[in-house]
Amino acid sequence: MTITGATWVAGVAGAPVAHSLSPLIHNAWIAAAGLDAVYVPFAPPAEGFEAFARGLRGGAVRGLNVTVPFKEAALDLADSASDRARTAGAANLLTFSPRGEIVADNTDGAGLLAALSEQAPGFDVSAGPVAILGAGGAARGAAAALAMAGAPEIRIVNRTRQRAEALAIAVGPAARALELAPAAFEGANLIVNATTLGLGGGFGPAAVFAAREGAVALDMVYRPLRTEFLDRAAKAGLIAVDGLAMLIGQAAPSFEAFFGSAPPAIDVRALCLAALGDAG
Ligand code: NAP
Repeated sequence: MTITGATWVAGVAGAPVAHSLSPLIHNAWIAAAGLDAVYVPFAPPAEGFEAFARGLRGGAVRGLNVTVPFKEAALDLADSASDRARTAGAANLLTFSPRGEIVADNTDGAGLLAALSEQAPGFDVSAGPVAILGAGGAARGAAAALAMAGAPEIRIVNRTRQRAEALAIAVGPAARALELAPAAFEGANLIVNATTLGLGGGFGPAAVFAAREGAVALDMVYRPLRTEFLDRAAKAGLIAVDGLAMLIGQAAPSFEAFFGSAPPAIDVRALCLAALGDAG
């Protein structure tokens, strides 16, 4: 890689950020596209994110992906935001206009939909209820995207009931908060784990066994790639969709926002699998 006086800079901000696969993905796309650009990790201090992000305006950096724990703060500090970021109440993408404005977007939901079309090609979002475990930043992006894509019913199950209720209100009439019980998953067309836990970590098997036949299970967690949730889901006959497909799916529209063109068609999944130490 050669850094010149004209090199474009983009990056990802999180705390921690060292484990992020985003630099690997974006720099592979940059190299394959022959761009004079670089994508770097940033680890701003927990209390200093706003000052950090504001300091990147005015041409220093083209844009920033944002991960835990800064997604809500990223939306709050932006001058404008897409509908999907506003509905989600969280942003994973900030871009900086030449005039210094900060624009927030949320591509997590687009990543989830891309992962579904890649690994569960027959999935029809409008065909039945969706159950989401979790009500954090990632669940918010997923719920907003699934509502916009036409999910007829979105059931949100979260340890902290209040957060599930707040998310249901933000998403609109198709969404409601439910307790963790088999009824929450009854006849579900899609079950999404958007908590930091695998389902083995405390949710029990109720979720996957109550889903309808042929349903899809997606785990946002991708370390390990094959989580206990996905294992259980596959054994129960559900179609398993992994979090790595979603990660790559959310990175693609971010790349386009930073550099103005879609990423080249190279196998970044293989690079990520190698980095995760997982052959498949
Ligand atoms: P977050 O905002 O911190 O939310 C964490 C969620 O997990 C909350 O709903 C929280 O419930 C729940 N939770 C945490 N510990 C729990 C426990 N012991 N028992 C039950 N629930 C628990 O995090 P996030 O940004 O939404 O991310 C969630 C996960 O998705 C992370 O693993 C992240 O790496 C992953 N993710 C993946 C992608 C991808 O592209 N694959 C994208 C975004 C995020 P409470 O509300 O009760 O605290």
